[in-house]
Amino acid sequence: MNLMDLRRASLLLLMHIFAIGIIPAQSNLADSTAVKDTILYFAGGISYHPPEFKPIKQAKNPKNIIFLIGDGMGLSHITAARVANGGKLYLDQFPVTGLNTTFSASDFVTDSGAGGTALATGEKTLNGAIGVDRDSVIIPNIREVLSGSGKSTGVVVTCAVTHATPAAFVAHQPSREMKDEIAMDFMRSGIDLFMGGGLENFIVRGDSANLLEPLVKLGYFIDTQTVAPQPSIRISRLAQQQKVAGLYAAGHMETFTGGRGNYLPEATQAAIEVLKKNPYGFFLMVEGSQIDWGGHANHTGYIITETMDFDRAVGEALRFAAADGQTLVVVTADHETGGMALMNGNYQTGMVRAAYTTGDHSGTMVPVFAFGPGSELFRGIYDNTDVPRKILEAMKLSFPKP
Ligand code: MG
Ligand code: ZN
Repeated sequence: MNLMDLRRASLLLLMHIFAIGIIPAQSNLADSTAVKDTILYFAGGISYHPPEFKPIKQAKNPKNIIFLIGDGMGLSHITAARVANGGKLYLDQFPVTGLNTTFSASDFVTDSGAGGTALATGEKTLNGAIGVDRDSVIIPNIREVLSGSGKSTGVVVTCAVTHATPAAFVAHQPSREMKDEIAMDFMRSGIDLFMGGGLENFIVRGDSANLLEPLVKLGYFIDTQTVAPQPSIRISRLAQQQKVAGLYAAGHMETFTGGRGNYLPEATQAAIEVLKKNPYGFFLMVEGSQIDWGGHANHTGYIITETMDFDRAVGEALRFAAADGQTLVVVTADHETGGMALMNGNYQTGMVRAAYTTGDHSGTMVPVFAFGPGSELFRGIYDNTDVPRKILEAMKLSFPKP
């Protein structure tokens, strides 16, 4: 070993000792919203008991699709929520599971623009792109294909509706940052229902337009409630509408622990009630948008509460699908966030201890869960672009050839 190698070795050893010494201290010093190691004791706090839904009958092909995306939701996020909830989730009830790869056309680690576009259009694109291919050419998404076959369509999210994931199912823009243009795309999209935040992109715009007026003319029931963190979702009132534009925050919605309450499961229920009136069926995309933000913050509690909230929305989809028998429910993620690993846990107390390798996304595969007619197509390992292709295949449809 020469002198340089010796110096490098002793430096590495020093860094190692320093790291071991500093990590616990950092956790104590960090502010409570960005703790690396969080130990949670839920013990009845916000835990819930998922009733079991058994399909009463099953059609050969699905008439309705409920596609739920946990943004940034890897296996550790799901496992952490499952431990915190005493070892059970609605996700446990899915008879079929698979895995999908998440890389984009430009990067091994995708962003939510390219990830959402892959799940919506069945095509890889550049990170940051929304509903366009790597040459910025508009590509059709599954919601548009199913709308074209006569179905009602909708999206329900906990971020601004103009944010990357919902935008990928509605808009076509070269950059996810083009929020004004994405809002304009919502107005032109023919979508029957959208619920989430993002009111400002419709009324505080560079072009000074107020998009709520044309939306009313297009027949949308406008539901805006931005005064409280928890909007009251009047399910029976919404159920009577044909088209709904629900904008419940200026920007993104509040976190679950910040008071968003039961919004996501309730909005999911309301959306199903609105869309199911179409005799030709419906397509609904529901996103647990903020699981990703908990991952970026390396905040175990944020991840767990958002994943549990998303799982309760999954429960609403299952409740409907089990009774209906003609609905395919598919749950997946666009990527993993945080490089999260579970270091300890306790199913009795709900204690979870996690570590993180990044404040960004990671390139690991993410799980897929399927329930209902066509679910058998989702076994195995495949690409994220195969997910919407399989959904269409279950319905004996496909993306139009370019
Ligand atoms: Mg998202
Ligand atoms: Zn992210």
